[in-house]
Amino acid sequence: MTELLQMPRGTRDILPVEIRLWQFIEETVVRIFELYNYSEIRTPIFEHTDLFTQSLGHTSDIVEKEMYTFNDRKGRSLTLRPEGTASVVRSYLEHSIHKNEALTKVYYRGPMFRYERPQAGRFRQFHQIGVECLGSRNPILDAEMIGLGVHLFDEIGLTELKVMLNSVGCNICRPVIREQLREFIGDNLKHLCEDCNRRFTNNPLRILDCKKPTCQKYTMGIPMFSICQDCGDHFNAVQEYLDAMNITFVVDNHLVRGLEYYTKTTFEIVSPDLGAQNAICGGGRYDKLVQMMGGPDIPAVGFAFGLERAAMLLQQLGIQGKNPPALTLYVAPQGHLATLQGMELLDDFRRANLRADIDVSGRSLKNQLKAANKLGAEYVLIIGEDEAEQKVGLLKNMANGQQQTLAFSDVLNHFFLGTETVQPIQPNQLVLRGMEEVL
Ligand code: AMP
Repeated sequence: MTELLQMPRGTRDILPVEIRLWQFIEETVVRIFELYNYSEIRTPIFEHTDLFTQSLGHTSDIVEKEMYTFNDRKGRSLTLRPEGTASVVRSYLEHSIHKNEALTKVYYRGPMFRYERPQAGRFRQFHQIGVECLGSRNPILDAEMIGLGVHLFDEIGLTELKVMLNSVGCNICRPVIREQLREFIGDNLKHLCEDCNRRFTNNPLRILDCKKPTCQKYTMGIPMFSICQDCGDHFNAVQEYLDAMNITFVVDNHLVRGLEYYTKTTFEIVSPDLGAQNAICGGGRYDKLVQMMGGPDIPAVGFAFGLERAAMLLQQLGIQGKNPPALTLYVAPQGHLATLQGMELLDDFRRANLRADIDVSGRSLKNQLKAANKLGAEYVLIIGEDEAEQKVGLLKNMANGQQQTLAFSDVLNHFFLGTETVQPIQPNQLVLRGMEEVL
């Protein structure tokens, strides 16, 4: 016997029982993004590998060990996108959007791919929704970004989240910060993990991001970074705007984020209920990325959040998402002619925006009624063989058991115009043969 195949490690199916919650999150978030004047952008799922190696930095975990990279049939190196910002910037430059718009506000959504060690809240294929605002250095936008994140989580029902904030400086002060950190670690380097020893030379800031308890022990108590005057002023202004917007935040100087493109503001929105992977949302300013990717000197700020983690938190709170609209009608036909007529009626219902379905099993009426009940159908239209001949059906209200015989041409009107306008046929005019006891 052929063995059943399973989904690849680190991926998951989002089944119909869960999808309502995802749709609820997506619909809410899109509505909020539109309120903030953002428009959607859709970029390819795979890109040239160079896009990510150039933008995310060679020393980032993603580029070092997490990319799904493959050669296509012509030998071109392509990569499944591990994040969304690089593609947005590529598209922004490729289509010269910067030449037409002083400020560009876009959001994206979709699957991302990282070869990470799967665990609760961490997958190899996961889904992000992100926003990017390109074209301004104004700290108002950093604060507005954070406010937007808080607002959308509020709207989906996640109110117990915490905003963590930091500034990682710019190209001018970053070398100073790096040196400051190396000095702080000093002789303790030998106690740090292998990855952190490598980071010490390449990108010591990443040491602060290490989740290993030993490494964390030796970086605890690190003083605030000595950022330059410009970065300091910017950071103060962001905090001032956040205060004005009544957004509570915690300054956390360990918050460096995994990607090298960040400058100045970095932030995360975290939940204590997520366990080790406690960040639901992460972002910050990236003033040099557009230039690094060959464009003009255009600053930007953005964030992305993970749908799996948002759904997980909502499930913990018992939030299920919207229920689907009720199934208005279930057609229970007996025989071929009844099925043909039932199909025609079904089409009328669906075109009138009513959810309707038909039994295709050919099973007994009793079992068809059971199926209708399980599906939560409000009404069942029973069409027996004799009824089919006469173009009528027996409409049964599943809530109160009442039933009436209606001409096919009147069934839809019954739902739109009410019972008074359509003439029920007297029950004794027709009998569903052999089904008396079921009805
Ligand atoms: P990042 O792109 O790493 O800044 O991540 C932004 C957000 O995406 C995180 O806060 C998570 O909610 C989500 N995320 C990142 N990586 C994963 C992953 N491997 N599995 C699930 N969610 C993830």
